This record gives sequence, structure tokens and C-alpha cells, in this order.
Amino acid sequence: MSAAADSPLAKLFPSPNHGERKDGLLPEMVILHYTGMPGAKAALKWLCTPESNVSCHYLVQESGKILQLVPESRRAWHAGAGSWRGRDDINSRSIGIEIVNLGHDGASVDPDDPRKSVPGAPTGGPLPPYPARQITALIGLLQDICGRTGISRRAILAHSDIAPRRKRDPGEAFPWGQLAAAGLGLWVEPVPIRSGHFYQRGDGGAPVLALQQMLAMLGFALAPTGCFDEETEGVVRAFQRHWRPGRVDGIADFSTITTLRDLLKIAA
Ligand SMILES: [Zn+2]
Repeated sequence: MSAAADSPLAKLFPSPNHGERKDGLLPEMVILHYTGMPGAKAALKWLCTPESNVSCHYLVQESGKILQLVPESRRAWHAGAGSWRGRDDINSRSIGIEIVNLGHDGASVDPDDPRKSVPGAPTGGPLPPYPARQITALIGLLQDICGRTGISRRAILAHSDIAPRRKRDPGEAFPWGQLAAAGLGLWVEPVPIRSGHFYQRGDGGAPVLALQQMLAMLGFALAPTGCFDEETEGVVRAFQRHWRPGRVDGIADFSTITTLRDLLKIAA
């Protein structure tokens, strides 16, 4: 690693876990993650241990301190299997940022008895919030990265966008609207949730096919089959996590479908 961090906002904390970007690919998107671990120390240990085979380019601590683990020119190992807009090998095409946050597993911690924590358990309570100074630091880092590399300010995605059935981070507590206010990410105000017609697991036909086509047009890897299957439900849930976080239930209601339609209008 060179002696200086790529970003003037970061301090070096080198990880050995990286390789060459495939076929000379350049980063064209930023993938946001949460660490899902208590504090930065445990996460840094994991991200810098050769045995873990995982890393990221940047880690943003709760205090707002930013560390660079892998040079931007190298392929960090943060995304795993995934796809967006028909493109795979996301690691070769992206810069990965880990944000220190307990995430969904943190929400399953019983505050009165942390031993009851069950990793991977469904969300049991409100997700741990991202502190303001951490988000301010992240916004600064994203502005810096996009300004230096030419990555589109719209191409800032969740890990759950590119791996919807495998990943939930950075989760529905992540303040995408705040990033959008700073000109970062693709965002429209979610359409308010109200009663009305909806589609869910087991449904089929032309409206489901249209929904799948819209989700695929946005970028999700989803085959338009016309059947609202488990996979479709997972993608709808991932969509909601990012773009309609008020309710993440995998049911395509009016608010979900209309928010998706509004997003596609500006995504073109
Ligand atoms: Zn992740």
C-alpha cells in the first residue's frame, strides 16, 4: 500500500485482504455496509485477518473517524456474490464502505439481558441508529470519492440491493434521505403507506410480471416470471429496506409500487 490514504479524510489501517480488479475494471459504484458488530475494534480485527477473507476500502466509525483498509485501486472483498443492472463481480466494480453499526442482530439484543441475543434472529426491536457525526463523516467521504474517481453520485447502493436475499445491510434504519439531501444516491420521497390493492407471495399474472420488470429495470437481479415467488418477495423486501423503509414486509402495496415507479422516472 502506498504511504498515503486515497482520501484525505481517512487514516491508513491496512488489511491484507485484497486482490486485482478483474479485467482492469474501474469502480463505478459504492456499496454501503454495516459491520453488524459491536464497536470498530472487533470489525477491524475481522477485516484485517487473512483467515476471514473479507475487507473493505473504508470503515466509518461511530465517532466519525474514517480508516482506509484497502487502496481504491485494489479489489476489496466486501460484496460477495451479487449483481446490479446485469453486472456481477461487484467487488471489481465498486468501492466498499463498512459503517460501524450493530445492525439487525443488534436489534435482537434484549437490553436487559444481552445474553439473549440471537445472531440472525428477526428484528426484535428498533434498529440501532446511525449517529449524526458518523453520517456527516460518511457524506464527506462519499463526496470526496465521487469527486476524485468520477463515480456517479447516484451509484451509491446498499449491500442488500446487490444481494437481496442474502444481505440486509445497511438496513432500513440507514438515513438514505439524508444522503439524498446532500446530492448522494438515487432517491425519491417514499409514497405514504395507505390501504389499497397489493400483491404478495402466491399471486401471479400481468401485474406481478410488470412489478418484476420494474424491479429489474431499477437494477435488481430478478427474472420476470409473472409469479410472486420467494425470490420476488426477497427483492421487494430489499427494495423497501432502501427506498420505502417505513414497512419492510415483502408485500408490494400501493406505496411500494408507486415509489418504485417514481424512482424509475428519475433513474432513466
Ligand atoms: Zn455487507
